[in-house]
Amino acid sequence: MDSAERDQRFDRATGLVDRLDAEGVRVVALTWVDNSGITRTKSVPLRRLAHAAAHGVGASPVFDVFLFDDWIIQGRFAGGPVGDLRLHPDLDRLTVLAGQPGWAWAPADRHFQSGVPYPMDQRLQARRAVQRLAERGLGAQAGFEIEWCVGKAHTDDWVPATSGSAYGHARQVELSDYCVDLLAALDRQGVEVLQFHPEYAAGQFEVSTAPEDLVGAADTAVLVKETVRAVTLKHGMRPSFSPKVVNGGVGNGGHLHVSLWRDGTNLFDGFQEEAKQFSAGVLHHLRALCAIGCPSLASYLRLVPHTWSAPFAAWGEENRETALRLIRDNLEIKCFDLTANPYLLVAGVVAAGLDGIATEAALPDGLHVDPALLDGVPRLPASLGEAVDEFEKDTVLTEAFGQELAGTIADVRRGEIERYRDASPQGVANLIRWRY
Ligand code: GLU
Ligand code: MG
Repeated sequence: MDSAERDQRFDRATGLVDRLDAEGVRVVALTWVDNSGITRTKSVPLRRLAHAAAHGVGASPVFDVFLFDDWIIQGRFAGGPVGDLRLHPDLDRLTVLAGQPGWAWAPADRHFQSGVPYPMDQRLQARRAVQRLAERGLGAQAGFEIEWCVGKAHTDDWVPATSGSAYGHARQVELSDYCVDLLAALDRQGVEVLQFHPEYAAGQFEVSTAPEDLVGAADTAVLVKETVRAVTLKHGMRPSFSPKVVNGGVGNGGHLHVSLWRDGTNLFDGFQEEAKQFSAGVLHHLRALCAIGCPSLASYLRLVPHTWSAPFAAWGEENRETALRLIRDNLEIKCFDLTANPYLLVAGVVAAGLDGIATEAALPDGLHVDPALLDGVPRLPASLGEAVDEFEKDTVLTEAFGQELAGTIADVRRGEIERYRDASPQGVANLIRWRY
């Protein structure tokens, strides 16, 4: 970022301030998502937005080694008290927050003080993935399904805030105003919702959003979660996005839908050769990708058969138990959950998919039955430790992220494993329930 770009950012933000002020905005939250999948933030008063856009806001690189519980480790490539980065808000995505009156939000990219992009910044990794696709004449669209459970407030225990049945309209009647306020807030924020419904688990709901470019889809995942949080709290309840709110129940997924485009054509329409190769690449790297897409200890409480978390490393047309479910015009990756950093996740999926295209990977036969009924269908990792081992062996993924970021992701995962080595499954569910 040179001084001309800083000036341009300053002027652009200055031009936005009067409108934001008229809309009642007083504070702008700049967020990034750390390697453990927690959205972290620094905020500026509206009058400092232009300065922040041009010069950024200070943030220590130590955030790269934060665990989900805010414990800080010393990583091999990151950690320690020295150094500073600058958070630069992306003005293209600046959004007035309908669920938090007085606030606006912008996702931030992290740069060094010199303006040079910080290579371990997760959102810049997603941008780089878009570039890698473009270099091959390709584009991608994506969208996350956001699932969460609504619990009673004033307790850390899990007490669902509605008793309505799975997919039961009763749940939407009991929480009628809540549902409307949430959808209205998303609409005011320009989030295009495709569908909303009560999900299977107690107190669970889901929102799915329209496909967007990859960075936009990851930004939307952050925005939708934080909007759900704001509106849920305002209605006197608590949201949990944890993969397993209670051990043994059905969990919260964060399914990712991806389509691949060339010259304005969706290659998943008719499942064209490059879409098959892309899918084969994702499948080939899927066990390693779990370290990114199923990155928490609770993720592995979720990845069990017959809970629609799709814990088998296989694909199938409209198969809800294979991790990859081929749908009419896109690939749904069902095994991922919302403890994932969405920016790292889209970057990882692109690296895997592009490797499939580069090696002309052959897609094995799809499964048309429940994989649990067949012998020998490979499972996804059974633990976070297994996923991290796979990730560290996967040179396609580690090279795509770069040694420092890949190593730091592994360090953070191992830090969480080590810290909670003795926790029971229900203990893990309790620990993570309200963290995401
Ligand atoms: N809640 C399920 C999960 O853990 C997904 C249900 C569905 O198929 O949408 O992923
Ligand atoms: Mg669902």
